[in-house]
Amino acid sequence: MNHSQNLKYQALVGMSKTQLESFAVSLGEQSYRGRQLFDWLYHQKKDTIDEMTDLPARFRNQVKNSAIVHPLIQVAQSDSGSKRTKKFLFQLQNGNQIESVLMKDGSRNTICLSTQVGCAVNCDFCATATMGFVQNLSIGEIVDQFLQLKKLSFGPINNVVFMGMGEPLLNYKNVIAAADLLHDPDGINMGSKRITISTAGIISKIKQFSIEAHKYKLAISLNASNQEQRIRIMPISATQPLDELISVARNYTLENKTRVTFEYVLMKDINEKIEDAQRLLVMLSSINCKLNVIPYNKTGRDYVRPKDENIQSFLSILEKAPFPVTVRWSKGVEIDAGCGQLVTRTK
Ligand code: SF4
Repeated sequence: MNHSQNLKYQALVGMSKTQLESFAVSLGEQSYRGRQLFDWLYHQKKDTIDEMTDLPARFRNQVKNSAIVHPLIQVAQSDSGSKRTKKFLFQLQNGNQIESVLMKDGSRNTICLSTQVGCAVNCDFCATATMGFVQNLSIGEIVDQFLQLKKLSFGPINNVVFMGMGEPLLNYKNVIAAADLLHDPDGINMGSKRITISTAGIISKIKQFSIEAHKYKLAISLNASNQEQRIRIMPISATQPLDELISVARNYTLENKTRVTFEYVLMKDINEKIEDAQRLLVMLSSINCKLNVIPYNKTGRDYVRPKDENIQSFLSILEKAPFPVTVRWSKGVEIDAGCGQLVTRTK
C-alpha cells in the first residue's frame, strides 16, 4: 500500500481494546480477535499486519483492506552533536507535520510527544507559537510517536512527556486517552508515574485532571515569579492568572496526595534575578512540589540563555528551598531541540 492511498484507511494504532473488538466484529470475526490485534500492536509492537501470525490469513487480508497500522510517516531526523538527543519529524495523513524528541540522560531515555499541530497558547519564547493553532492530534497520532520512537531509541524508554508541540490540556480528551493507552498493562505498560503531562497552566483543565484523579504526573510551565512578568512572556496568564494557577496546583496536590512539578525556563534579563529566586521560594514553599530549572535553549528569537554565573546565583538562593530543585542542562542545544523548532525551521 503506498502512502497516497492511506487517506482512505483508518489507522489501527490509537484504537482501544474495545474499539479493536468492535472492529474485529465489524469484519465478521469474534471479539477476541480484537484483543489479539491489541496485543500485536501495543505489546509486541509489530509494524505490519502480516507479522500478526496467529490471526487467520483471511482476517489479516480483511484488516489490510480496511486499515493501516501507523497513522504517521517519519519524514526527517536530526541528531545533536553529542548524539544524546534525536529529533524526528512526522507527517500526518493530511500532510501536516509534527515533531517528537528522544533524549538520553545517562541510562535514562525520555520521549517527548507533541499533542497538537501548532499551538494557540502563544508563549512569547516558543517557536511553535509562531505557527498558531492548526489542529489537535488524534489519540493514534500521539501514541504512534511513542511506538515509532521506541524502535529508534538507544534503549528502554523510562519516561514519556507530553511536552512537544501544542498545549496538552487543550486536547484533553485525546491526551488522557493516549496516556491510558501508553499505561495499559496489556499493551505498552508504561507506569503511570513515568508519564508526565506538561501544561502552560489551563486552570479549568487542571481542576478537571484533579477531580478525575488521574495518576499521571502533572508539570506546570511556570517561567515567571510574578503575574506581570508572566503576562509578558506567557500572555495566557491574562486569563489564567498566576495566583489562581498556584492555588489550583496546591489543591491538586492536596486532593490527589501527590506532588506537582513546576518548570522554570531561565532567560537572561527576564526571570533570572536573585529577587525572582526569592519570590519563587516564597510562592512554592507551601506546596508539595518539585522545581525544575531549565536554562534557556537559544533559538535566535529575542530570548537568550543567562550567563553561567547568573544561573549559579539563582540556584544558590534555591538551596534553602524546602522542595527539591533540579536543573535540566539543555541537551538539545546543538539541534535547537525546543518544541516546534524543527518544524518551523523546515517550513
Ligand atoms: S511553550 Fe508550549 S504552550 Fe507555549 S506556545 Fe509553545 S507549545 Fe504552546
